[in-house]
Amino acid sequence: MSSTTSWVARSAVRVVCRGVLALGVATLLLALTACSDPAPSSETSRDSAVDPRPNLILLSIDTLRADHLGSYGYERPTSPHLDRFAASAIRYAHAYAPAPWTLPSHAAMLTGVHPYAQGFRHQNSTIPREIPVVAELLLAAGYRTAAFVDSAAKGYVGGERGFARGFERYDHAPHRSRQTSKYDMAATVEVALDWLEEPKGGRPFFLFLHTKSVHAAPLGGGCADPRCFPYAKPAPYQFRFATPAAQELRWTSVEMGDGQKLLWGLNERFLDGRLDPRAYPEERIEALVSFYDAGIAYVDEHFGRLLAGMERLGLDETTTVVVTADHGEAFLEHNLLVHQEVYESLLHVPLLVRPAGHAAAGEVVNAIVALEDVVPTLLDQAELPAPDHLTGRALPRAADLAADDEPRSLFAYYLFPPTFSYQAFSQRRGDWKLISHNFEDGGQFSFELYNLATDPSESNRLREPAARHSELRQALRANLRRPPIAQAGGVDESDPALDAIRALGYID
Ligand SMILES: [Zn+2]
Repeated sequence: MSSTTSWVARSAVRVVCRGVLALGVATLLLALTACSDPAPSSETSRDSAVDPRPNLILLSIDTLRADHLGSYGYERPTSPHLDRFAASAIRYAHAYAPAPWTLPSHAAMLTGVHPYAQGFRHQNSTIPREIPVVAELLLAAGYRTAAFVDSAAKGYVGGERGFARGFERYDHAPHRSRQTSKYDMAATVEVALDWLEEPKGGRPFFLFLHTKSVHAAPLGGGCADPRCFPYAKPAPYQFRFATPAAQELRWTSVEMGDGQKLLWGLNERFLDGRLDPRAYPEERIEALVSFYDAGIAYVDEHFGRLLAGMERLGLDETTTVVVTADHGEAFLEHNLLVHQEVYESLLHVPLLVRPAGHAAAGEVVNAIVALEDVVPTLLDQAELPAPDHLTGRALPRAADLAADDEPRSLFAYYLFPPTFSYQAFSQRRGDWKLISHNFEDGGQFSFELYNLATDPSESNRLREPAARHSELRQALRANLRRPPIAQAGGVDESDPALDAIRALGYID
């Protein structure tokens, strides 16, 4: 890959400023404030001139696997608006999450740093103070900032986890008192459009939106419908893709996890051997997929409303829009349901970028890219330098790629203490991917090698080539042993719950 990207022309100011940044929020923000040009120092002076930098909207569609969108090859019509958007944008065909669940993946998406490097090991981790959230950098550089997230304050994208840093407004779900369910893309778009209508005083804005309307969820207020659904969606979407037989299925208390754990309760039984995942009925999986797809259609419909609203407000041409997801979803393609594994169905996420001005319609980039690349790309759009501590890099354009580029190496992990009932790690380089997990073999870690070019569904475990296996295993071990650059809040490296991976020599 060439050393430069072609997102926007780089200003002399940016070149001068690159390299002066040191890790540390205070230093970083001071440097960025000094570097941003023409960042005025007061609200009054900001009002006096229109800032020419583009507005930025980042939409995270929680739990959306890439291959359930038409633009990524899905046959079911789940996503007409997202597909039209993709045709007007740059589509990254191979974008990957660093973890298959909400907290660490969003930490990467909003800081530009791999969550393992931030010390994320626990479900109670928070973003380290030393690592700035992208909103802090943009706010310091003169941007207005707001976020509407489908998360409680202590939830996995919650303000108390550090995500609200740098946002002038950070609203948690529910966004409207009349919402029928806690998570509702319709309400998210409604409040987002209200905010977009507010005067910004001539300043560009950064708006972060997060929706859980695709995610597994019980009905709001419990399961009033005797059928209940592990993926409850607003009527009339629930049955949009369901067969008549699927509509008549009754969901057991195990599948509903007593309304709390949902399908994770079923996973627990798969993991401890009480249930055999291979014996789970195919028609129930097909029904679950149809409900999941209904959630995508619901989000898609309201994404269309967001785009139409932007057009109505005259923001269409002046705003860079990024659409992505924190992870995918599994339907027993391998061992489990929902999202606890590191197979492609969990890590491969959609990533669509429509730069302001619509200058890149229909471009497809086939390079392997990572979620933590979103932050340096947003900073690039805002004409800000990428701080040195980022592990992500500005997303490439198709013209930047060369046939002899070094394949990107990506590491992903699933750790969910304190139970540690299941752990999984993956190391990818180019088409090759090594997975290590403790699903089988009596809790011992097994290794699976796949060639994704010939086996994208990871169905054929390879023993050869041994050299490839060894290379990826060494890279995986090196990543697991690399000390974090900062400590996520709540992390205790001496926690005995880490003994299992310590015993492998993965950490000291
Ligand atoms: Zn998630």
